[in-house]
Amino acid sequence: MNERAEPAPTVAVVGGGAVGVTAAHDLAARGADVTLYERGNLAGGSSGRAAGLLYDAYAEDVDATVGARAMERFRAFDRSLPGFSFTPCPYVIAVREGDPDADAVPAMVERMRDHGREVRTLDPDALGERFSALWTDDLAVAAVAEGAGWTDPPSYVRALGDRAAREGVAIETETAVRLGPRTDGKRKVHPSNGGAEAEGRAFDAVAVAAGAHTRSLLAAADVPVPVVPYRVQALVAPVAYDGPMVYDATADAYLRPHPDGLLAGDGTEPVPADPDDYRREADDWFREDVAAVLRERLAGGDAPAGVDRDPAADARAWAGLCTATPDGDPLVGPVDASGEAADRGSTAGPAPTLFVAAGWQGHGFMRAPAIGETVAEGVLASLAGVAFEDPDSPWIVAFDPTRFDGDETFEIAEGMSLSSRTDEE
Ligand SMILES: Cc1cc2nc3c(=O)[nH]c(=O)nc-3n(C[C@H](O)[C@H](O)[C@H](O)COP(=O)(O)OP(=O)(O)OC[C@H]3O[C@@H](n4cnc5c(N)ncnc54)[C@H](O)[C@@H]3O)c2cc1C
Repeated sequence: MNERAEPAPTVAVVGGGAVGVTAAHDLAARGADVTLYERGNLAGGSSGRAAGLLYDAYAEDVDATVGARAMERFRAFDRSLPGFSFTPCPYVIAVREGDPDADAVPAMVERMRDHGREVRTLDPDALGERFSALWTDDLAVAAVAEGAGWTDPPSYVRALGDRAAREGVAIETETAVRLGPRTDGKRKVHPSNGGAEAEGRAFDAVAVAAGAHTRSLLAAADVPVPVVPYRVQALVAPVAYDGPMVYDATADAYLRPHPDGLLAGDGTEPVPADPDDYRREADDWFREDVAAVLRERLAGGDAPAGVDRDPAADARAWAGLCTATPDGDPLVGPVDASGEAADRGSTAGPAPTLFVAAGWQGHGFMRAPAIGETVAEGVLASLAGVAFEDPDSPWIVAFDPTRFDGDETFEIAEGMSLSSRTDEE
């Protein structure tokens, strides 16, 4: 007897950044009927402005697992995804003399090594011997992580977007959506592309990966989430550099090789930013700060070799948004069930229809291949009735979005800082 096949679940993904395209691709690859909505073009949000540092050298357990999976996929995509490439490059965490964070480095490295990462502590002389491009005399200690690398973030989004389309994802760019209420076990989205809002369409599930717009988008659907955008900055300077990627923890700045010279950044402004109205150009103070870091890190306070003026003066510089949460961990998972957050995940209750993936504290791009995969597997498991807390659930308990009420007020903490990496669970 012929059994009628179950229809494929319909899933809308909101947001065509690294997380959204990965989730959309992975959902379609697992048989879902997927529509990806992006208000502008793919990579038009933070993913198109990211620096592209990729590493899995995390001390904390969950971060280490997510980082390892993400790096595994970046390497696989390097071999199999046309238009994407991953450039291996060691990652140095450097702490200057006099910085009390130096004491935390050996324990941090031990924890990273416990996770199987190839990381070791180096004294400044040994670091300088290995990487002649770096000036190390002012350092107290450094850690070197192998297995890291960099890429061009928008190329990842576009390449995976192309593959998602080949997997059958309907990609609706220039289409902003508004979320409707949950009705009859489905969630409506209302698309508009510049003109009047189109007829709403009901989906079995809607996954919101709308970056800096996540909070406002969900608030309009009466789902409060504490995901606060803040501004960070980067620049590409025409300074020849063939050294490792470096995070100067004392200066709170990073740099990496770039085809046009050297990319450097951070410039965090730890105050809430309006995603519809923030300054997209870099600030003068950021250029000056980076110039000072480059002089210090590359030439001990002098102008770097071959540079006869301020290394940041001729740089192409920009600002973009990251998103903060009260505890620095992202929000990834279902946010509704029968409308009551407390019912969510109950095997007896109706399946959730609304999911969120946001709040990366500056580490969203490098985790996107793993988080997008978690979203895809999690949404399908939730639709199949697997409870969030079920041991077989793909969701990550530490990232449960309902651990907050949504109206918390909190300080925005810089995402790369050593303290945010070394905190014990
Ligand atoms: C200068 C800078 C440097 C960075 N460097 C790094 C780095 O080296 N490594 C790293 O891991 N991370 C880095 N980040 C952070 C990284 O960019 C983000 O964490 C990551 O790109 C987030 O991806 P996303 O897909 O969640 O969001 P986004 O890329 O912002 O995508 C969200 C998308 O949703 C769309 N959208 C919003 N509202 C709607 C709506 N109503 N309807 C339809 N679409 C909507 C937006 O247009 C946007 O394209 C950096 C960020 C900046 C700004």
